Amino acid sequence: MAKTLTDLFYDQLQDAYSAETQLTKALPKMASAAGAQDLRAGFEQHLAETKNQLERLERVFEQVGCKNASNTCEAMEGLIEEGEEIMGLGLDADAQDAGLIAAAQKVEHYEIALYGTLCAFAKQLGHADAARILHETLEEERRTDAKLTQLAERGINQSARA
Ligand code: FE
Ligand code: FE
Ligand code: FE
Repeated sequence: MAKTLTDLFYDQLQDAYSAETQLTKALPKMASAAGAQDLRAGFEQHLAETKNQLERLERVFEQVGCKNASNTCEAMEGLIEEGEEIMGLGLDADAQDAGLIAAAQKVEHYEIALYGTLCAFAKQLGHADAARILHETLEEERRTDAKLTQLAERGINQSARA
């Protein structure tokens, strides 16, 4: 029998779990590579939030009856690799910070798309509580993206030598 929206929902939940797990390993590296104190603090704060997002996902798995199988998010592997490329370019500190912000915003945009979809699927499938939990994370990712824009516009891009 053909698979359904529920199967797709489970698949995407597992994708999110893989993406967040990868980020708990990548964010500490981005924090140590950041030159500006506020950018470093931002990455550290989002690391704490990301760990909490993993716990939220575990709650959602339980609520909707999804087994947390190991499913790798290849997109996040690629986005993290792009961040590592930037750290390997030999940029001066300010330009590297601008690059780290660019890499981090690509990650947040992926997550915003993913959690937007997960919220919509959860609602559609009648999982109102799970939808609320997923929406909390969606909002956290949106705030992180907005904060990165602020950091870039309020200084880091200007400090970077042309
Ligand atoms: Fe996240
Ligand atoms: Fe993915
Ligand atoms: Fe995030």
